[in-house]
Amino acid sequence: MSKKENILISACFLGTNCRYDGRTVELSSLDQLKKKYNLIPICPEIIGGLETPRKPAEIRNNKVINSLGQDVTNNFVIGAREALKLAKLNKCRYALLKERSPSCGYGKIYDGTFSGTLIGGNGVTAELLAQNGIIVLGESQISKLLN
Ligand code: SF4
Repeated sequence: MSKKENILISACFLGTNCRYDGRTVELSSLDQLKKKYNLIPICPEIIGGLETPRKPAEIRNNKVINSLGQDVTNNFVIGAREALKLAKLNKCRYALLKERSPSCGYGKIYDGTFSGTLIGGNGVTAELLAQNGIIVLGESQISKLLN
């Protein structure tokens, strides 16, 4: 049997309670995904040194600021670099990442005002992975990995 392809995946899709609010995220088609791929989980915010639960953070003026006004950019950058290392080590062509997160979101993120307003943009990890040629998909695009 040929070895399954590795894909990077947000750890919160796999039952790890690593979201800022200490929760996890349900991912439909997870069983199908597991059958086809070897899943390599990463939570960039945890590996970047943040605790769970933690204050929500959003990107504003190229910095990541939490709801207390603290600058957590450095944690997010460390996490992104570690995610890229893990992806390269495992030769991941794809990353399936949680949409709208300031780390994992790709294409749309919150605008930095904590008002629930979405704007075009990428989370810190999603951006670094994409810059390095990794195809970043969000959960609403999971079917692209299953066809
Ligand atoms: Fe999930 Fe990414 Fe947020 Fe971690 S940083 S909880 S993996 S969305």
